[in-house]
Amino acid sequence: MASSFLLSCRGLSAAADETPILHDVDLEVPAGEVHVLMGPNGAGKSTLGHVLMGDPAYSVTSGSVEFDGADITELSPDKRSRAGLFLSFQAPVEIPGVPLRSFLRAMVEGRGQKMKNKEFRKKIKELAQTLDMDPAYLDRELGVGFSGGEKKKVEMLQLLLLEPKLAILDETDSGLDVDALSVVSRGMELYREQCDGTLLIITHNTRILEHLNVDCVHVMVSGRLVAAGPSGLIDEIDAQGFERFELDNSAE
Ligand code: ADP
Ligand code: MG
Repeated sequence: MASSFLLSCRGLSAAADETPILHDVDLEVPAGEVHVLMGPNGAGKSTLGHVLMGDPAYSVTSGSVEFDGADITELSPDKRSRAGLFLSFQAPVEIPGVPLRSFLRAMVEGRGQKMKNKEFRKKIKELAQTLDMDPAYLDRELGVGFSGGEKKKVEMLQLLLLEPKLAILDETDSGLDVDALSVVSRGMELYREQCDGTLLIITHNTRILEHLNVDCVHVMVSGRLVAAGPSGLIDEIDAQGFERFELDNSAE
């Protein structure tokens, strides 16, 4: 039976090679909400992001993923992207010789979105301006010599151009500087305002959440979701870390 959630994982377990990483994950994200996934290093948060995107480095050993009313457990990353899923790249791409503008054009076309060239040029120029990005960057080689903040602007430009139904942003290990943090924060705000987007944010940088209304915080420890609650959990974790959840988990 189709659920009313945009994303719904049921009993999801996944492994890399033969090593089990995720165990029996149940996660439900309604459309239009902002969910945050937190947990200690190595808990499996990035793995969940990759499994949701269909990364072939991981295999689903049990359970299912439903997205927008359809079972996507077996879908290729490309089809998931077309269905409206977006995963931010922790290591943003660098493609010497390819202007950012051409890359974005190819991305839009690859998704099967119809857009006339004039309309496309207008749209990316507007988005660049909204993100405080010098439009000259659109004609520079993708990612080459871009600062951390500029790479994040490209990522947020992709997000706002693609208007996915669900954006999974994994910022955990990327060591964002203050500039890049504010770009991500602004990008997420715009995505909420302009696209009424749904967010699953994986982060340690709770400052990037300050301008968002967080609906639910999920805590992952050792490949399992061990707690979920309202945004107050973020302050608790900021102050006290994950020890309580780790203890809870081992007591089971
Ligand atoms: P987090 O993002 O919460 O820090 P990860 O999802 O990156 O955690 O990693 C969870 C665990 O799975 C770690 O022990 C990591 O070494 C392991 N792992 C992740 N990806 C792979 C992989 N492709 N091959 C083998 N082990 C992996
Ligand atoms: Mg990670």
